[in-house]
Amino acid sequence: MKGIITGMRLTLSHLFDKPITRQYPKEKPVMKDRFRGRVGLVRSRETGELKCVACGLCAKACPDNIIHIVPGTGDPEKGEKKKFPREYTIDISRCMYCGYCVEACPFGALTMTHEYELATYDKNDLIYTIDKIVVDI
Ligand code: SF4
Ligand code: SF4
Repeated sequence: MKGIITGMRLTLSHLFDKPITRQYPKEKPVMKDRFRGRVGLVRSRETGELKCVACGLCAKACPDNIIHIVPGTGDPEKGEKKKFPREYTIDISRCMYCGYCVEACPFGALTMTHEYELATYDKNDLIYTIDKIVVDI
Protein backbone atom coordinates (compact mmCIF):
# COMPACT_ATOMS: atom_id res chain seq x y z
CA MET A 1 0.00 0.00 0.00
CA LYS A 2 2.84 2.37 0.93
CA GLY A 3 4.48 1.65 -2.42
CA ILE A 4 1.28 2.51 -4.31
CA ILE A 5 0.94 5.81 -2.46
CA THR A 6 4.59 6.70 -3.12
CA GLY A 7 4.17 5.87 -6.81
CA MET A 8 0.96 7.88 -7.11
CA ARG A 9 2.57 10.84 -5.34
CA LEU A 10 5.46 10.78 -7.79
CA THR A 11 3.11 10.49 -10.77
CA LEU A 12 0.92 13.35 -9.56
CA SER A 13 3.96 15.55 -8.90
CA HIS A 14 4.72 15.40 -12.65
CA LEU A 15 1.13 15.77 -13.82
CA PHE A 16 1.36 19.46 -14.74
CA ASP A 17 4.97 19.48 -15.95
CA LYS A 18 5.61 20.67 -19.49
CA PRO A 19 6.17 17.81 -21.98
CA ILE A 20 9.85 17.08 -22.56
CA THR A 21 9.43 14.97 -25.68
CA ARG A 22 11.21 16.53 -28.65
CA GLN A 23 9.42 16.33 -32.01
CA TYR A 24 12.48 15.19 -33.93
CA PRO A 25 13.18 15.69 -36.84
CA LYS A 26 11.00 18.83 -36.87
CA GLU A 27 12.70 20.05 -33.70
CA LYS A 28 16.42 19.52 -33.80
CA PRO A 29 18.53 19.50 -30.66
CA VAL A 30 21.21 22.16 -30.25
CA MET A 31 24.46 20.26 -29.97
CA LYS A 32 27.06 21.10 -27.37
CA ASP A 33 30.25 22.82 -28.52
CA ARG A 34 32.34 19.68 -28.07
CA PHE A 35 29.88 17.38 -29.86
CA ARG A 36 31.62 15.27 -32.50
CA GLY A 37 29.69 14.93 -35.72
CA ARG A 38 31.19 14.03 -39.06
CA VAL A 39 34.67 15.25 -39.91
CA GLY A 40 34.96 18.47 -41.91
CA LEU A 41 37.81 19.72 -44.09
CA VAL A 42 38.35 23.38 -43.26
CA ARG A 43 38.28 26.07 -45.95
CA SER A 44 39.31 29.50 -44.78
CA ARG A 45 36.62 32.16 -45.17
CA GLU A 46 39.35 34.78 -45.56
CA THR A 47 41.34 33.15 -48.34
CA GLY A 48 38.73 30.79 -49.78
CA GLU A 49 41.37 28.04 -49.77
CA LEU A 50 41.57 24.70 -48.02
CA LYS A 51 43.93 24.78 -45.07
CA CYS A 52 45.07 21.23 -45.86
CA VAL A 53 48.55 20.78 -47.29
CA ALA A 54 48.16 17.04 -47.94
CA CYS A 55 50.81 16.03 -45.41
CA GLY A 56 48.97 12.79 -44.68
CA LEU A 57 49.29 12.92 -40.88
CA CYS A 58 45.54 12.59 -40.39
CA ALA A 59 45.43 9.49 -42.57
CA LYS A 60 48.25 7.96 -40.54
CA ALA A 61 46.50 8.80 -37.24
CA CYS A 62 43.15 7.33 -38.28
CA PRO A 63 42.71 3.95 -36.54
CA ASP A 64 40.18 2.86 -39.15
CA ASN A 65 42.37 3.77 -42.12
CA ILE A 66 39.48 5.48 -43.90
CA ILE A 67 41.18 8.69 -45.02
CA HIS A 68 42.74 8.70 -48.47
CA ILE A 69 44.61 11.66 -49.88
CA VAL A 70 46.06 12.26 -53.31
CA PRO A 71 48.45 15.22 -53.00
CA GLY A 72 48.86 17.77 -55.72
CA THR A 73 51.63 20.31 -56.23
CA GLY A 74 51.13 23.94 -57.16
CA ASP A 75 53.41 26.73 -58.32
CA PRO A 76 53.98 29.24 -55.47
CA GLU A 77 55.15 31.86 -58.00
CA LYS A 78 51.65 31.84 -59.45
CA GLY A 79 50.19 32.26 -55.98
CA GLU A 80 49.35 28.57 -55.76
CA LYS A 81 49.98 26.45 -52.69
CA LYS A 82 53.05 24.24 -52.86
CA LYS A 83 51.04 21.21 -51.75
CA PHE A 84 47.30 20.70 -51.64
CA PRO A 85 44.91 17.74 -51.61
CA ARG A 86 43.98 16.89 -55.19
CA GLU A 87 41.69 14.26 -53.73
CA TYR A 88 40.65 13.83 -50.11
CA THR A 89 38.12 11.13 -49.21
CA ILE A 90 36.79 9.78 -45.94
CA ASP A 91 34.58 6.70 -45.71
CA ILE A 92 32.21 8.12 -43.12
CA SER A 93 30.39 4.78 -42.83
CA ARG A 94 33.42 3.41 -40.99
CA CYS A 95 34.26 6.51 -38.95
CA MET A 96 34.03 6.10 -35.18
CA TYR A 97 34.20 9.85 -34.49
CA CYS A 98 37.29 9.49 -32.31
CA GLY A 99 38.73 12.82 -33.46
CA TYR A 100 42.30 11.51 -33.78
CA CYS A 101 42.56 12.92 -37.29
CA VAL A 102 41.60 16.39 -36.04
CA GLU A 103 44.14 16.18 -33.22
CA ALA A 104 46.87 15.00 -35.59
CA CYS A 105 46.51 17.88 -38.06
CA PRO A 106 49.18 20.53 -37.39
CA PHE A 107 47.40 23.11 -39.58
CA GLY A 108 43.91 23.13 -38.07
CA ALA A 109 42.65 21.86 -41.40
CA LEU A 110 40.18 19.37 -39.94
CA THR A 111 37.30 19.79 -37.54
CA MET A 112 34.54 17.71 -36.02
CA THR A 113 31.33 19.32 -37.27
CA HIS A 114 27.93 19.21 -35.56
CA GLU A 115 26.45 17.27 -38.47
CA TYR A 116 24.94 13.93 -37.49
CA GLU A 117 22.13 13.29 -39.98
CA LEU A 118 24.08 11.08 -42.36
CA ALA A 119 21.55 8.36 -43.15
CA THR A 120 21.37 7.29 -46.78
CA TYR A 121 20.02 4.42 -48.86
CA ASP A 122 23.32 3.82 -50.62
CA LYS A 123 26.45 3.27 -48.52
CA ASN A 124 28.58 4.54 -51.40
CA ASP A 125 27.12 7.99 -50.64
CA LEU A 126 29.02 7.84 -47.36
CA ILE A 127 32.39 8.04 -49.06
CA TYR A 128 32.80 11.78 -48.72
CA THR A 129 34.91 13.68 -51.21
CA ILE A 130 36.24 17.24 -50.81
CA ASP A 131 33.07 18.91 -52.06
CA LYS A 132 30.94 17.02 -49.51
CA ILE A 133 33.26 17.33 -46.56
CA VAL A 134 34.40 20.94 -46.86
CA VAL A 135 33.33 23.46 -44.18
CA ASP A 136 33.91 27.21 -44.31
CA ILE A 137 35.35 28.53 -41.06
S1 SF4 B 1 37.27 10.64 -36.45
FE1 SF4 B 1 38.63 8.88 -36.04
S2 SF4 B 1 37.82 7.20 -37.31
FE2 SF4 B 1 36.90 9.11 -38.06
S3 SF4 B 1 38.24 9.75 -39.75
FE3 SF4 B 1 38.99 10.78 -37.88
S4 SF4 B 1 40.56 9.43 -37.04
FE4 SF4 B 1 39.39 8.24 -38.52
S1 SF4 C 1 46.89 16.37 -41.28
FE1 SF4 C 1 45.82 18.26 -41.86
S2 SF4 C 1 47.12 19.20 -43.43
FE2 SF4 C 1 47.80 17.08 -43.20
S3 SF4 C 1 46.63 15.95 -44.79
FE3 SF4 C 1 45.43 15.82 -42.91
S4 SF4 C 1 44.01 17.57 -43.02
FE4 SF4 C 1 45.63 17.94 -44.51
